[in-house]
Amino acid sequence: MKRLLRVLATVVGLLVLSLPSQAQLRHEIHFPDVPGYKTLKCDFHMHTVFSDGTVWPTVRVDEAWQQGLDAITLTDHIEYQPHKDDLPTNHNRPFDLAAGRARQKNLLFPRAAEITRDTPPGHFNTLFLKDANPLDTADFLEAVKQANEQDAFVFWNHQAWKGPELGKWMDVHTQMYDNKWLHGMEVCNGQTYYPDAHRWCLEKGLTMMGTSDIHGPDQRKSNDPEDHRTMTLVFAKERTLDSLKEALVEGRTVVWYMEQLIGRREFIEPLFVQCIRVAKPHLRSSNAVWVAIENVCDLDVHLERTGSVGPAELELPARTTYLLNIRTKRPADPIEMAYTATNLLIAPEQGLPVTLRIPGE
Ligand SMILES: [Zn+2]
Ligand SMILES: [Zn+2]
Repeated sequence: MKRLLRVLATVVGLLVLSLPSQAQLRHEIHFPDVPGYKTLKCDFHMHTVFSDGTVWPTVRVDEAWQQGLDAITLTDHIEYQPHKDDLPTNHNRPFDLAAGRARQKNLLFPRAAEITRDTPPGHFNTLFLKDANPLDTADFLEAVKQANEQDAFVFWNHQAWKGPELGKWMDVHTQMYDNKWLHGMEVCNGQTYYPDAHRWCLEKGLTMMGTSDIHGPDQRKSNDPEDHRTMTLVFAKERTLDSLKEALVEGRTVVWYMEQLIGRREFIEPLFVQCIRVAKPHLRSSNAVWVAIENVCDLDVHLERTGSVGPAELELPARTTYLLNIRTKRPADPIEMAYTATNLLIAPEQGLPVTLRIPGE
């Protein structure tokens, strides 16, 4: 009996040892939670071999987990399948093939697809589908309706991408909007920013989205300040599918795009407060204070002074601490410094007004 157990233990040991150790390291993305919400790092637009991508669905899960994402969707085109002679047309396959891997890696992974029509109307991602196949229908509005009957979250992709209308807001978009069939827009897709989409999101109460729209393999190991996927930060009550969807429907998002954050002031402001931490002065002389300002997030934050106190410009590189020396006649008093965070956009070309508060003695 003992010998049998020993043999079993050896076999189990060998099995454990034989698990591949590669791709099991995750590099976290640094944007802190905000009061009341978890900050989920999400990419809701990517392709696989099941449309015009060049990777197998499970690879997308491995890439995303390694790069610190919390939630992703595979949004293969319904209407465009250049590999259809090699792979069967079943719009649910990419999700079905990767769902188990997503569970193993604890990624939130709703079923999704991209409705793909010439402009107008353009391309639309549909998330939280129950079944992608009913979207495969000739009538565009019927496809959008099918998605909505499944209670999907629908957003307009790369709005000014292509076509003679170049992403104009047309009657068909009004019809979708009036029916409550359109819930968000990509403000940023890959390396492109769409100011019209940004404006419309603000005017029409649509959710701001930022996505990678990757087609080839993403060879990044991590998302870094100078090289990262375009993604959506979603402020969810919990790290669950239900909470994720509720947050998207309610528009609680900020887009991380190149060296910018883009979002509604009500969400970008609390994020700034959590990212930029002003310490209590560690030294006060008769005419100056020395204080540390920590930037805990993955964005280099640029500040331009709008008040009369503090340096004209402050550069706070990602995940560093800045030592500030302020001259003052009353070093024991609190000090307020008014700035604009020029790369945290609350509207096109409009930075977030912020106040850095140095506590008094
Ligand atoms: Zn598209
Ligand atoms: Zn796409």
